[in-house]
Amino acid sequence: MPTPPVHDRLAAVRARVDAAATAAGRDPADVRLLLATKTQDAGTVLAAVEAAAALAAARDDDAPPLIGENRVQELVAKAPALADLVAAGRLEVHMIGNLQRNKINQMLPAVTGLETVDRASLADALSERAVRAGRTLDVMVQVNVSGEESKSGVAPSDAVALARHVAALDGLRLTGLMTIGARSDDDGVVRAGFARLRALRDEVLVSGAPGTDEARELSMGMSGDLELAVAEGATIVRVGTGVFGARPTPA
Ligand SMILES: *Cc1c(COP(=O)(O)O)cnc(C)c1O
Repeated sequence: MPTPPVHDRLAAVRARVDAAATAAGRDPADVRLLLATKTQDAGTVLAAVEAAAALAAARDDDAPPLIGENRVQELVAKAPALADLVAAGRLEVHMIGNLQRNKINQMLPAVTGLETVDRASLADALSERAVRAGRTLDVMVQVNVSGEESKSGVAPSDAVALARHVAALDGLRLTGLMTIGARSDDDGVVRAGFARLRALRDEVLVSGAPGTDEARELSMGMSGDLELAVAEGATIVRVGTGVFGARPTPA
């Protein structure tokens, strides 16, 4: 079966998000799509960004398209093709994968935000580099709500303390929390994890600590579990295969 054009796939995913939001009594406009572009080449990414911009325009949605990359090497390789759009405010780029401290300088010029702060030492290093670069970087704290060992993220019990730490740092703006849902066939388990992230976000918001009052975003849900995430309050849903088709399986 031929793969439908990216615009059609994107519209189909958007329709799923809209339906889930409406079913939850939410405004669909409060949920943003992030295109997870790992393994896609720059041309494919640009075509998807163009399709996303067209879809947004048709919906009277002012927010620029948003993409996410997992690896600094891949991010940097595609950055030149995307730089003009980013500079014009017509594209936002988030790092959504694990970040090593020694890659911060390479990453910074290529992103508008980072969703995977999972430890204070990384936040401190990011703050220092952002200040030195004269930047304010949007950041989210990644929480491991499922407790699965294969997943990154701070433990839920330490998430609020880390968020408060991050929010107080110069050069960083804490915009919310991010998680990767549990790998489970039980919708109840997956959904409980998303509910946990929302409860933690609410705790951060009312903590009264400096910089925590803008931490409204909940980046959660992917192609397979976005309905559950939207039902629990996701404001950013990260979609890869739903828009680009199956990725080549790593060798
Ligand atoms: C790849 C990826 C996604 C998208 O996953 P799909 O199942 O392809 O939609 C979302 N978030 C992160 C962190 C990813 O690495």
